[in-house]
Amino acid sequence: MPGWPVVDSLQFAKQHSSVRCSVPVSGLRRLAQAVLDDEDELEVGLDGFEDSEGRPCLHLHVTGSMTVTCQRCLEPLVLGVALDRRFVLAEQEQDLGDLGEEADDVDSLLADSKLDLLALAEDEILLQIPMAPMHEESKCTRPQWSSDAGREGSAFSVLGALTNTKD
Ligand SMILES: [Zn+2]
Repeated sequence: MPGWPVVDSLQFAKQHSSVRCSVPVSGLRRLAQAVLDDEDELEVGLDGFEDSEGRPCLHLHVTGSMTVTCQRCLEPLVLGVALDRRFVLAEQEQDLGDLGEEADDVDSLLADSKLDLLALAEDEILLQIPMAPMHEESKCTRPQWSSDAGREGSAFSVLGALTNTKD
């Protein structure tokens, strides 16, 4: 799609570049399948910088919200998205392992001259979506089948009555 941010990640980091874009969830194909309303918009940003050791790094941030189905009450649930990820760029694949030893909040990423920002953002968002998203505890309940339960109850009492009559 024209205009989609594709960056040379090493250059981007070394030049301390920044890019911001606003993306409808419908523009992220894999994510769009997981949501109810693909018109929800996400703000995606990427900043290049170098860490204290002079290594090229990227800072990815995504904010916004997505509407998914609550797995308890099956009603729409708005999930806030606040993603904040830092990556140290590895120039070669064999460097990835060493960089992986970093602190938990920093990941290593293979340098890519055609880094697709939205694909990276989408990968990270997909990792953050809970397996079974639900409203807060006590904010909703499972659907009540009270009318069915009532019928079942009366069927049992009718059966009970019949049994009693037989005796
Ligand atoms: Zn719910």
